[in-house]
Formats: sequence, structure tokens, C-alpha cells
Amino acid sequence: QILTNSQLGPRERECVQTIDRSGQALLTIINDILDFSKIEAGHIELDNAPFALRESLEDVTTLLSTAATETGVDLLLRIDPDLPETYVGDVGRVRQILTNLVGNALKFTHEGHVLINVTGKVADQMAKLNIAVSDTGIGIKEEHLERIFGIFQRLHSREDYKGSGIGLAHCEKIIKSHNGNLWLRSELGKGSTFFFSIPKRSTEDSKLAA
Ligand code: ADP
Repeated sequence: QILTNSQLGPRERECVQTIDRSGQALLTIINDILDFSKIEAGHIELDNAPFALRESLEDVTTLLSTAATETGVDLLLRIDPDLPETYVGDVGRVRQILTNLVGNALKFTHEGHVLINVTGKVADQMAKLNIAVSDTGIGIKEEHLERIFGIFQRLHSREDYKGSGIGLAHCEKIIKSHNGNLWLRSELGKGSTFFFSIPKRSTEDSKLAA
């Protein structure tokens, strides 16, 4: 921070920014591994606060819209209008999973769109939210599908795509610890859809029948 704010020439500034970015990237990997191990050891902290679904999901699309604009891919969000608007639960975790899945979708898509589609079922104020992230990207070979949720699995060229191979394993751990499910459908060259379902308590009367 002190170095970034001091008077630097353009070359030095570029070097400091590179160091800063590398540091941030490393920190993200370390935090992911720490969180992964914590969940594995059963130390999952649940935050049960009310949240507005659309607002929370729009936070994610806003955050990732720059990455989408840079690649020329449309990032779209659709929420079933009949779903209740407010829920109680760990919205930070929902955002974390979605950020990961949409981040991947944008990374592996060079043209077309990434669509987040939210549907669900509600009964007695319990909602089962189904969130699908589909992309028109490079897709995944059928024989690779079964190991995709394994830790450190990377299925595409390491030269072309940066990554740590932790993201999906981490998402799966979080979702399972919240009694949800994560699965996918993909076709090589055509795109992929990652689905996750997660139970959440709604604070409104259900508009949708189960
Ligand atoms: P990372 O993205 O850091 O490599 P992940 O665990 O998030 O790690 O993903 C594992 C691998 O699964 C990726 O390296 C990539 O090969 C494949 N993958 C994930 N999401 C997609 C997607 N939307 N389209 C194509 N391949 C994907």
C-alpha cells in the first residue's frame, strides 16, 4: 500500500501492480484451501440472516460484468418472477458459489452468453432454489465429466486457461454442507450448464406451489 501510493515511474508502477495482483491471487488460493479444509473438518459456520434474492444475485453479476464485457460475452440473469423475494440463510455462500460458477463460465466462453437462471419450488415457507449457470463455451469431454469435482482437476490446457482446480471441489463441499446438490451437463464445443439446488427458508408466503 505504501509503495503503491509513493511516487513511482511507469515501469516501477507496473511492477508493483503485478506484485499486488499476484499477491491477491495467491491469497485467494490460500483462503480457498483453508476454507475447504475447514468445511472438511466439519467447521462450517452458518450465517442465518434475511436476504433479498434478486439484489444478492445482481451483486454477483455487477461484480463479474467487467470480465464479461472484456470477453464480449453477454451475462444474463433470469429469476422466476413467481419466486418469493426474501429468504433466510447464508447468502454469502450462495454468492460465493455463483461467483465461482459464473467466473468459470466466463473464462471458458469466448462468444455468446452466460445465463444464470433461477427457478424453485416452495412449500410451507421452505424453498428449494434451483440455480443453473449455462454457457455457450468450449464445453467438456464426456470422459472428463466424472472427475470434474475432484480437487486440483483441470481439464483444459494450462497454457490457455489459468486456474488452481480448487473452485468446483470447493463449491461442491459448500453445497453438500448446506444439504444441496451440484451437477452438470456439457457438450464439447457447445457449452456447459452447472446446476445447484439449495434449500432456503422463505420469509414470505409461498407464491409457488411445490
Ligand atoms: P479452475 O477453474 O481454477 O481450473 P475449477 O475447479 O473451477 O478450477 O474447474 C476445474 C476444471 O473444470 C477447469 O480447469 C476446466 O477444465 C473445467 N471447467 C469448469 N467450468 C467449466 C466451464 N464452464 N466450461 C468448460 N470447462 C469448465
